Amino acid sequence: MKSVAEIIQQQGFSIEDLITLLSGSNEDQSILFSQAHKVRLKAVGNKVYFRGLVEFSNVCSKDCLYCGIRRSNTTVVRYNASDEEILEACMFAWRNRFGSVVLQSGELISAAFIRKVDKLLRKIKQLSNNELGITLSCGEQSIETYRRWFESGAHRYLLRIETSNRELYYKIHPMDKRHSFERRLEALQWLKEAGYQTGTGVMIGLPFQTIEDLAADLLFFKKIDIDMCGMGPYIEHEHTPLFQYRHLLSDKNDRFILAIKMIAALRLLMPDINIAAATALQAIDPVGREKGLMAGANVIMPNLTPCDYRKEYSLYENKPCLDEDAGLCRNCLEARIELAGSEIGYDEWGDSKHFSKRTANLKLPG
Ligand code: SAM
Ligand code: SF4
Repeated sequence: MKSVAEIIQQQGFSIEDLITLLSGSNEDQSILFSQAHKVRLKAVGNKVYFRGLVEFSNVCSKDCLYCGIRRSNTTVVRYNASDEEILEACMFAWRNRFGSVVLQSGELISAAFIRKVDKLLRKIKQLSNNELGITLSCGEQSIETYRRWFESGAHRYLLRIETSNRELYYKIHPMDKRHSFERRLEALQWLKEAGYQTGTGVMIGLPFQTIEDLAADLLFFKKIDIDMCGMGPYIEHEHTPLFQYRHLLSDKNDRFILAIKMIAALRLLMPDINIAAATALQAIDPVGREKGLMAGANVIMPNLTPCDYRKEYSLYENKPCLDEDAGLCRNCLEARIELAGSEIGYDEWGDSKHFSKRTANLKLPG
């Protein structure tokens, strides 16, 4: 069997190679992380890009079995931030020279919701002189809605596949039309067709998930040719159906390490994409996101959600930064990123280099 040190020198990776990378010992792990860091520096540089995260509504029509804000969780106080509150958070990002924001919410497909997002996009562009980049993360929508929002100023979209294993997908989602694996795949395709830099990702350490599943997830990202990825550890939430399987979970720290290994292995597999160090990493380790940066990630999403709403956007236990205001969060982040040896890409969109190459190829004649 090949060693981790041998595998990391390769250009391409088989599923067996990826399984070896994900299952390595402590020593192997250090080799993998340091190679991923080197590959990141070479392919996308030393900069880390900020995306100010605005979780603007926790109202959701879906019932994903792992998520704390699923429709059936009646213990959640539902909120819709007002346009003024959302714009204020976005302007905070702009004034503080974050290049972009991410607008995230539960999944709604009503005409009123679609109009609200559309209006916000136009307003953010107008108020920031077109300077703020906008990523959306509002779930599955029709291709017309994706196109409409793109026209109005969104240019990146995050839609995690959650797992690329269809069978596992239905263990963590209700088996019905509103939670269709095929529909999710189709939505990812539509996002590309509509012109977005398209991001996906998975949760790591889910009950019933194997190392083989995770290695296959990485190959899935490569196959559908994503531009960006956001993935992090699965963290249980008491008021969700998946909580009953918590005895099947590995230790939180093991899930954390596995998530960092996934980031590192993906950086080797797709050197020029953007990879986010997810907030869930920080829920397990206070400097978890910085560890992600040291192992291949190049994007961080500081939370700019108005403080009163944060505790109600509780996807999982111990979601970090619940009490910190946006300013404090920024200061602590800045220092920690510098400690991790990276530079912050202030005022930059930090677009996916992979996307530029992918779309340049599309434009070539013949
Ligand atoms: N509603 C949109 C969607 O599902 O695409 C966007 C918001 S949703 C809350 C964002 C992500 O949160 C999901 O894609 C999922 O991976 C993650 N998430 C939800 N519950 C989680 C949990 N218990 N542990 C870790 N991540 C979780
Ligand atoms: Fe809703 Fe997204 Fe949570 Fe699923 S993961 S319940 S779609 S907010």
